[in-house]
Amino acid sequence: MSEQDYREETPEVDKKKAVTGEVEDTKKEDEYEKVCFVCRRPESTAGKMIDLPNNICVCKDCMQKSFDAMSSGQIDYSQLMNMNIPGVQIFNMADMEQQIPKRQKIKKKKEGEERKPLVDIKNLPAPHKIKASLDEYVVGQEHAKKAISVAVYNHYKRVATDTMDDIEIEKSNMLMIGPTGSGKTYLVKTLARLLDVPLAITDATSLTEAGYIGDDIESVVSKLLAAADNDVEKAEQGIIFIDEIDKIAKKKNTNQRDVSGESVQQGMLKLLEGSDIEVPVGANSKNAMVPLTTINTRNILFICGGAFPDLDGIIKERLTKQSSIGFGADLKDKYDKDKTILSKVATEDLRNFGMIPEFLGRLPIVFTLEGLNEEMLVQILKEPKNAILKQYQKLLALDEVKLDFTDGALSAIAKKAMEKDTGARALRAIIEEFMLDIMYEIPKDDSIGQVTITEEYIGNTGGPIITLRSQGVNRIGNGA
Ligand code: ADP
Repeated sequence: MSEQDYREETPEVDKKKAVTGEVEDTKKEDEYEKVCFVCRRPESTAGKMIDLPNNICVCKDCMQKSFDAMSSGQIDYSQLMNMNIPGVQIFNMADMEQQIPKRQKIKKKKEGEERKPLVDIKNLPAPHKIKASLDEYVVGQEHAKKAISVAVYNHYKRVATDTMDDIEIEKSNMLMIGPTGSGKTYLVKTLARLLDVPLAITDATSLTEAGYIGDDIESVVSKLLAAADNDVEKAEQGIIFIDEIDKIAKKKNTNQRDVSGESVQQGMLKLLEGSDIEVPVGANSKNAMVPLTTINTRNILFICGGAFPDLDGIIKERLTKQSSIGFGADLKDKYDKDKTILSKVATEDLRNFGMIPEFLGRLPIVFTLEGLNEEMLVQILKEPKNAILKQYQKLLALDEVKLDFTDGALSAIAKKAMEKDTGARALRAIIEEFMLDIMYEIPKDDSIGQVTITEEYIGNTGGPIITLRSQGVNRIGNGA
């Protein structure tokens, strides 16, 4: 729809749009420029675009070229529809609609304005401040929080100053090692939100070498562009988190081509280091229907994360081998009991695990996260700013009901979660199971003023304590 059409709409339509937020969108649209469907040049280069149906825009040059081709008789329409002419494709508009992304525009670069970094060096929070903000959300993981705060601070300092002189600051891409559910993704998400930079999260298992089935490696950059609202400059300073990086370790003893292991690592090298990548705008696969734009990954911070199962075995083996001969057995015992063994990781161990040296060389910062214990799980339940308990308490407070958990109940939930061995991930599922009945029953009865979840309720041997607004305590459920 053209701008003209927007202005001519009736007031009712305007009112409806105001409700749905479309008016906001239209305003935002002005900040974006259209891209020619044929030559892929943006409006700032190719001049005013002509709007066609299905969100397609074509520049005047390309439109003229098509008219010229038609009028000079280069195209024989009578044959066109029936013949299979090499190099000529006949599009069915209905099919095209599915392939053409709605958002084919990229954000305009303001003329004459210098490239302004998203993060201003003067306002860049110091590492201790970044860590203090992370502390509000992430429980434990002191070392990881410290390491990530320093790395991020240095990274954005490097971005903000660009290259001051001959000393180019190395990129601080990171590798995070820690068991499932220990907070790797959560840490990165929290960080991106605090710094207000775009973030794209992808799973290494879904990536394959270009040309094979699956997302090709560069698709992560187009995800980041989407997260940055198609603003190229913003995307170029974002964060890309690649999870399950251990799953693309080199496969041992295989004669087949390793399309999802070593070659994906190889394919990622240029991306991690910094290069110009052509990415589709508004879609995550390149095809003839989608305009492309170029993104430079030099200032994109890459964080890779993985659980690296059995890495502890590799570390133990190295440490035992390194120690003097004769004490081997004693030492092995000592390392078997060592809970912090993962933090002793060295590049050599990761290489033995199957990561290629060139790949590891581009992730200079390596740190580990510890497995969560029962005490930490209890803290996760109640302490972070958006803790699960606080969320439920807020929900019930809207019904003017106070929700409490006894300490015993919290430990019982944490114990159950520990059994599942998926870190803090299990917590929400467990609580949800017990809260379902409460959330269903409480709104039925206006007289209820407080609910206390007890250890017995979690252990299925009793019920929660219900306190009525006017009267005393009541128990419901199994123990009632
Ligand atoms: P993974 O290490 O497998 O990436 P996640 O970061 O996805 O684990 O953790 C799953 C969920 O568990 C998060 O969404 C978060 O709510 C919670 N969680 C995990 N670790 C912590 C932590 N240290 N502090 C607070 N919440 C955590």
